[in-house]
Amino acid sequence: MNRRDWIRSLGLGTLATSAAALPSASAFAAPSPASRSMDLVKITRVRAFATRPNKVNLIVVKVETSEPGLYGLGCATFTQRPTPVLAAVADFLDPFARGRDVSNIEDLWQNAYTSSYWRNGPVLNNALSGLDMALWDIQGKRAGMPVYQLLGGKCRFAVDCYSHASGRDLKEVEDSVRSKLEQGFRHVRIQMGSYGSEHLSTRSDFKDAGFGMPQDRLMESQPYIKATLKMFEHVRNVFGDEPELLHDVHERIEPRDAIRFLKELEKYRPFFIEDPLPPEANDYFRQMRAATTVPIAMGELFNSPHEWIPLIKDRLIDFIRVHLSQTGGFSVARKIATLAEMFNVRSAWHGPGDVSPVGHAANFHLDLAIHNFGIQEYSPFNDATQDIFSGCPTLKNGYVSVNEAPGWGVDFNEEAAKKYPIDKPERPAYWDPVRRRDGTAVRP
Ligand code: MG
Repeated sequence: MNRRDWIRSLGLGTLATSAAALPSASAFAAPSPASRSMDLVKITRVRAFATRPNKVNLIVVKVETSEPGLYGLGCATFTQRPTPVLAAVADFLDPFARGRDVSNIEDLWQNAYTSSYWRNGPVLNNALSGLDMALWDIQGKRAGMPVYQLLGGKCRFAVDCYSHASGRDLKEVEDSVRSKLEQGFRHVRIQMGSYGSEHLSTRSDFKDAGFGMPQDRLMESQPYIKATLKMFEHVRNVFGDEPELLHDVHERIEPRDAIRFLKELEKYRPFFIEDPLPPEANDYFRQMRAATTVPIAMGELFNSPHEWIPLIKDRLIDFIRVHLSQTGGFSVARKIATLAEMFNVRSAWHGPGDVSPVGHAANFHLDLAIHNFGIQEYSPFNDATQDIFSGCPTLKNGYVSVNEAPGWGVDFNEEAAKKYPIDKPERPAYWDPVRRRDGTAVRP
């Protein structure tokens, strides 16, 4: 093997510029089958696909290569703004990536990240995630290994998950929790109605006074807090101390109310309370931490390292729960996991319906490989979704397993995806406005 072939065999491509730093050519007399398989492979095309098989817009990125039949898939799902992500991939990422070596994932990520100069926004981060995850898929396929093996292999047998239990009243919540426990889940997220529980409000609201738009929703903090405390009390009374209970505040109450709320929840021993504050109120976590021992999970709205680094390094949260594609992809998330491990912060990656099966697979592969795994949010795949995505991770007794195929183990059927078009332009997927009684906008 000559030096040029050796460089190629390592997948370093144009990054290896110093011949003086390389071993002598005689050290590599005969190429092995493994090194031959790492010959330079280039990106030939990057495309994004939108589909909506379960009432939620999903975006998948496919990276095609110069090796016939070799491609990778990534998740770029920004469900509320799918078309800007499609444009970002088609207009900028595809021309940027073509001709580059598929092996250099980190180098590609760093240069694509700064190629817009301004960065850390959700649209470009999602597009970048699509490319990044697809390159990890390709790397796994070339190595003949599932991606978790590339990270060092399994730290656990399977991925322990939590499921959502909800209802409009205590009986409905109780029934829903019972159903989840019977399915084998040990961790259950309990919610009373929709986020903020607007149906709990008993007083007349702004709509009765003729204000607002039909789709505007009311959020009152005190009825929500009182009802949620009662819900925890009821579920503990019925099911005892054994089930692990989680709850998502969804950022909607004032910081002082949130701190008092968590203090009152202590006696019910929640596994964690999710997103008790909006990202704009991150500095309040120091006060919350000093006031209560309730475990805190935070971060599904985070896009930037400037948001997660302070909370992790100062040990102000117990679980980091970013949406992988919002952070820029798998490469970012594994760094977050490593950072968090050093500070005893565990993972709880965002995993609801607005993540494609490719994105869920990325969550699960990371869950399997990191030591500081905490818990994984689970969302089932309906028949239409599995019609489009084959090889979806599987659930048994509350544990999820990935299949052992190389890469993510998930494939994508372009033709099937066309049967489920995304929202029509005249009815995009807004997060409906939520208001206080006087009309003030509430941050979700
Ligand atoms: Mg949430």
